[in-house]
Formats: sequence, structure tokens, C-alpha cells
Amino acid sequence: MNPAGMKILFLASEAAPLIKIGGLGDVAGSLPLALRALKPPEWTGPELDVRLALPFHREIHQKIDQPSLAAIFQVDHPSGALWARAYQTSINGMPVYLIDGDPIDPDGLVYSHDPELDGRKYVFFSLAAVEMIRHLDWQPDIIHANDWHTGAALYSLALRKKSEPIFKPIRSLISVHNLPFMGKDAVPAMKDFGLPPANVPHLPKWAEYFPLPLGLSSADYIVPVSPGYAAEILTPEFGCGLQGYLQTRKKSISGILNALDEESWDPSTDPEVVSRFSAANLDQKQPNKAFLQAELNLDVDEDIPLLVMITRMDQQKGVDIAINGLRLAAEEKWQAVILGTGDSLLETSCRSLEAEMPDKVRALIKYDGALSRRIYAAGDILLMPSRYEPCGLAQMIAMRYGCVPLARATGGLRDTIRDDPTLADSTGFLFDEADPDIFAETLRRALYSYPNRSIWRTIQIRGMNQDFSWRKSALKYGNLYILLSGR
Ligand code: ADP
Repeated sequence: MNPAGMKILFLASEAAPLIKIGGLGDVAGSLPLALRALKPPEWTGPELDVRLALPFHREIHQKIDQPSLAAIFQVDHPSGALWARAYQTSINGMPVYLIDGDPIDPDGLVYSHDPELDGRKYVFFSLAAVEMIRHLDWQPDIIHANDWHTGAALYSLALRKKSEPIFKPIRSLISVHNLPFMGKDAVPAMKDFGLPPANVPHLPKWAEYFPLPLGLSSADYIVPVSPGYAAEILTPEFGCGLQGYLQTRKKSISGILNALDEESWDPSTDPEVVSRFSAANLDQKQPNKAFLQAELNLDVDEDIPLLVMITRMDQQKGVDIAINGLRLAAEEKWQAVILGTGDSLLETSCRSLEAEMPDKVRALIKYDGALSRRIYAAGDILLMPSRYEPCGLAQMIAMRYGCVPLARATGGLRDTIRDDPTLADSTGFLFDEADPDIFAETLRRALYSYPNRSIWRTIQIRGMNQDFSWRKSALKYGNLYILLSGR
């Protein structure tokens, strides 16, 4: 390793390909590798020796035969220290530390159904990740945490800096992928592990033991996952009660967009896609639509715009706005395919919509990665009426697959989609209010543009040519590391 390089310990609850549950898994699997791959002439800073630490989840045990033991140590606990073991493996040449110990695998799940078990797991993981540093012959310059799961690591680091010289030079940063999830069920674990309540001006009293607010208040820098979300979390509407505190940190907050693994999400090579295509041979997209229409027993007709929605069924995602908006636009020509799972009321609403409009709607209530790829490839318009969206991946994937996004103008959606009233510079359609009427109005605008094939094609190609690569975002994180380390 280049001795002048900078060392970064990246902490996350999940990272593809070892373990992926949601969007965070994509980010933690891609960003550290993109940072390690930064090269001159674009990158003028030191080599970035980024290493990842994850809990040693059961599913990872099944994937790794013989991980080597890197360190064995104890995590402080008022009623007797707990043993932890750090194993080492690698992803594409990047060292990965897998931290194990009694609280890590109570039920085999990455995110337990019992939120207090989850709290205990991630508080233990966070404290162990910091303690691990004392037992490796590799000391990071920076700890990069992600979301509430690893917030306690930055709090522990800040506390330990006061008395332990080894931690003093370490700088810290936290990426915020979802502010409302603050780890409130981890409070018993925070107390149990003997962590003191925070005493931070402007941080609300109710947050004094919550891992995410403590991570934010301990971090030298805060990175929401889009510039739009960075601005929104300073407001009462999106700040979840932390806006007052976050406003005091305004100078050390800036948004950096998540990006796509462009190799994995490529319609010209995607093995799941029936008819592969690219911006240069967009005609080959059409057979995917015909195939899906036939598979789902919908009318096979190129002229009927195919609306698609691929989402967690959650209040955040505005599934109800889409359902009611589609009812309001029932007289228009469209078909809709909804793929998703989650909240049972929303799942039922999707099934009801299908029952009401059996010749127009298909509700596929499941998680199916391969099918999602075929739907992106087949779809004309992706519906994404999110109430809030820190960054959002689905709209970027859709654009790569020539499926034009229709989304609410919030957070990362506003940052990644352009809606020009003349369509001359559009990559999609945006609307402001989380309201089914406005959704339906915007849908009509898209549906009335669709028959103009040459304009529609230009919108598709513009979307397909957007640069959603990690390289761009990695450069921004890299520059932030340099700023923090003072090099
Ligand atoms: P979030 O991380 O908030 O759920 P994103 O848009 O950032 O939303 O990422 C969601 C990812 O999960 C996308 O890759 C999307 O294709 C995928 N996804 C969501 N629901 C499903 C599903 N039911 N089946 C397959 N993939 C899904």
C-alpha cells in the first residue's frame, strides 16, 4: 500500500454482493470500490485504502468458507465485557472485516422482526467496529458511517477520543440514506452498553439515546444522499424534529447523490432481459413490452402506454397516491404493472385496483429481482410518487432502461430527473404536490406526449445517456475525505 495513502473504514449493515436487502446494500457494495478505483488524472488526491466492516450475518457465513481471523477482542459492557471476533475476507480485492459476537445473529436476519434485538445487534456492531481499530495493524484516518445502524460508532469514537490517543486523529462522516429511521428501538441497548445520554445544544431531549442523531452530532461531516434531500432535512416537513439541530450544522452538511452500478444495470447485457437493447438500437426495447403484456395476459399492443411501479409498499413511496391517481385517469389509454411488497393495506389496495380494472392493471405482490429487470425493460413510464425520497435508485434504473420516470419533485428525484415544459430538455415528468389529482394531471401530460414517437424517443435516449456512475459521486466523497483530514 502507498504509505501516503488515506485509510477509510466504511461501516454498513449490508453490502452487495455479500448481503443485500435494500438500496443501502447496493451503495455499500459499490461506493467503497469506486473510491478505491479513483485514479489520476481525475483524482489528484492520495490513494484511498477503503475497507468495509459488516456484521457477520448468517447469510454471509453461508457464502464464505474459511474466513481468516483478523482480531479477537472485547467490547465493554457494564455487566461484563462481550467477546467479539473480526474475520477478514475481500470483495474485488477490497479487505472486508466481518464482525461476529453473541448479539450479531440472534435470529439469522439482517433486520430482525424484533426491533430491540436489532438495536442490540447494531449497537454491539458499532462499538465493536471502533474497538477493532485498537487490535488491527491498520488505523483508519476516517470512519465513514451509514444510517442509524452505525451511528453509535461515531458517538463511541467521539467519547473515546477524550481519553484514548489512538482515536484522536480519526475524522468521521455519516451518510444519511433515510432520516426518519433513527434507531429509536436501540435505546435500551445504548443504555445497556453504558453509553451516556448526549448533551448537545439544539439536539432534542428525546433524541439523547437515538443512534442516528448521536451519529449526526458526533460526525465531522454529514452527507445526505442527494443535494435536494440535504436542503429538505433542514425544514420542519422533512427534518423529523432534528431540523433545528441540523440547521446549526449547515456548514458541515452537503448532499452527494448515490449512483448506479452501471455494469449490473445495463439493458444491453442484462441476462434477464428478453430482448437486449441500448440507446443505439432502441427498437429492440419493444419486444420486451410485448412479451410482458403477453405473459401477464394484457392486450399486446405497442400503442398502449405501459406504466410500471417497482417499489417497497410503504407510505413513503406514495403507492396510495398512484392508485388513486390511476383511478382518476381511468378513462385514458394505459396499462399498469405494479411489483412490490410490504405494507399489507397497500398490497390490498393494489389488488383491489386490479380487481376493478382487470384489463388494465396487474398487481404482482412479491419481491422478484429478475422480474423487476424485465419490467424496467418493458415499461414506458415508471411511476414514483414518493412523499420523500433521499435519493432513489428506481428512477435511475428506469432511465437506463428507456423507461421514462414520472415522479414527485422531492429529494433525489428532483436532482436526477429533468422536466422541461417544452420537453426539449426533459428526462421525465415531475409534479410537486403529493396529491392524486396532481398525479393524474401529470400522468395525462405524459400520456399525451407518448404518441409523438420522435419526441418520446428523444426523452428516452436523453435518460439513457445520463451519467449515473459511481465515479462522479466517489470523486465528491474523496474530496470530502481530503477536506476532513486536512491534507
Ligand atoms: P428504497 O431503497 O427506498 O426501497 P430505491 O428506489 O432507492 O428505494 O431502491 C429500491 C430498489 O429495490 C430498486 O433497485 C428496485 O428495483 C428494487 N425493488 C423494490 N421493490 C422490488 C420488488 N418488489 N422486486 C424487485 N426489486 C424491487
